[in-house]
Amino acid sequence: MARQLLGKEVNASLNEKIKQEVTALQEKGIFPKLAIVRVGEKESDISYEKGATKRCETLGVVCEKYVLPEDVAEEELLKVIDALNEDVSVHGVLLFRPLPKHLNEDRIINALDPQKDVDGITDGSLAGVFAGKELGFAPCTAQACMEILDHYGMDCTGKKAVVIGRSLVVGRPAAMMLMHKNATVTICHTRTTDMEKIVREADIVVVAAGKPGVVGATYFTSGQTVLDVGIHVNAEGKLCGDVNYDETEGVVEAITPVPGGVGAVTTSVLVSHVVEAAKRQNKK
Ligand code: NAD
Repeated sequence: MARQLLGKEVNASLNEKIKQEVTALQEKGIFPKLAIVRVGEKESDISYEKGATKRCETLGVVCEKYVLPEDVAEEELLKVIDALNEDVSVHGVLLFRPLPKHLNEDRIINALDPQKDVDGITDGSLAGVFAGKELGFAPCTAQACMEILDHYGMDCTGKKAVVIGRSLVVGRPAAMMLMHKNATVTICHTRTTDMEKIVREADIVVVAAGKPGVVGATYFTSGQTVLDVGIHVNAEGKLCGDVNYDETEGVVEAITPVPGGVGAVTTSVLVSHVVEAAKRQNKK
């Protein structure tokens, strides 16, 4: 049976570090603050917002919410973003996407100051991930994968890593971050041929395809580490990932479960970014 890589174990050490940093900032009169901007009442956004709010409270980070109606005018939303950019008491901004269709998402995202972009959605943040520079922040989910590898002492140097999925939210930044950790990285996507063979040759596999159970036993072999980013609700109403867990856990060396794996670490990473943003903004 594979070793389970558990989000709660990663969070325990991550959260300890965050708490110490928050205390140190508070002693200097700095109170890290996250602003959450939500347009509409999408269930998945509200659920993530609740988790993020609770994690902020537990770790001593202030959290303010800005909820706008589904039919908000683009200029109104931009005014909110501009005000948050200007507000020195706000260190990080989380903006839920996708935005309603009538809004120019690219324009709105890139109105956000990359220094406050704690979820890594602006072009500036992504440029930083690709260039290996602190221009903004890495997308939280991609970084959660790296935190899991670090926590369990997995050295990526010289390892073969395969990332399934090329979205800007997870796949592409995760691939870049693995490369910065000295792995040799292959990105698979819907047009990849013979994905089974490519995945079987990897030491580390990050699966972010957004399709429940899209990879299973035939893709894997002994000794591999599998990070499953997918989150879905299956026909029985239970949460499941992109990996067929039951088939795979008997084959590989280590695997993240769903729930309780990558997703569990994402909100801790978000809060750690707010704290880092507060530190950076007060260095200036
Ligand atoms: P997305 O749909 O934007 O991208 C999916 C990518 O996977 C695409 O690049 C596509 O080419 C590729 N793909 C799809 N089917 C494939 C297949 N059969 N073979 C190879 N490649 C395939 O999704 P996303 O935003 O990157 O999210 C991926 C998954 O991660 C989703 O299940 C999402 O719910 C989940 N997610 C989890 C968290 C978290 O905190 N755990 C955060 C964000 C997203």
